[in-house]
Amino acid sequence: MKKIEHIGIAVKDIDEAEKRFAKLLNTLSYKREKVESEGVVTSFFKTGESKIELLAPTRPDSPIQKFLDKKGEAMHHIAFEVDDIEQKMFVLKQEGFVLINEQAKAGADNKLVAFVHPKSTGGILVEICQENRTNL
Ligand code: ZN
Repeated sequence: MKKIEHIGIAVKDIDEAEKRFAKLLNTLSYKREKVESEGVVTSFFKTGESKIELLAPTRPDSPIQKFLDKKGEAMHHIAFEVDDIEQKMFVLKQEGFVLINEQAKAGADNKLVAFVHPKSTGGILVEICQENRTNL
């Protein structure tokens, strides 16, 4: 893993949370993006080398809504940047980690992403992500 690319935080209301985090981090969100396939709207903040990704549900069956129902607003995942996501997924599987995605998929912020199930990481949802070089 190269670095912590971002930390994802589940929020109920993207507008309210964006204002709150702009104050907390003393910087404005630089990008808001919907990921329709996940039923989520994201908002990104730069914090030095890393980012904060706010995630709010856009529909009731969104995985983020399910998370909020269970845990309320809280840290949702840690994302690590990798050079080769397919290779990293292969290695993690070999090591006994349970991947949620069989294949890397397009995520927010022009990334290919895959998730490691929290049951195999001690309760932390882990995202691995790679810059999507094929996109545009
Ligand atoms: Zn993420």
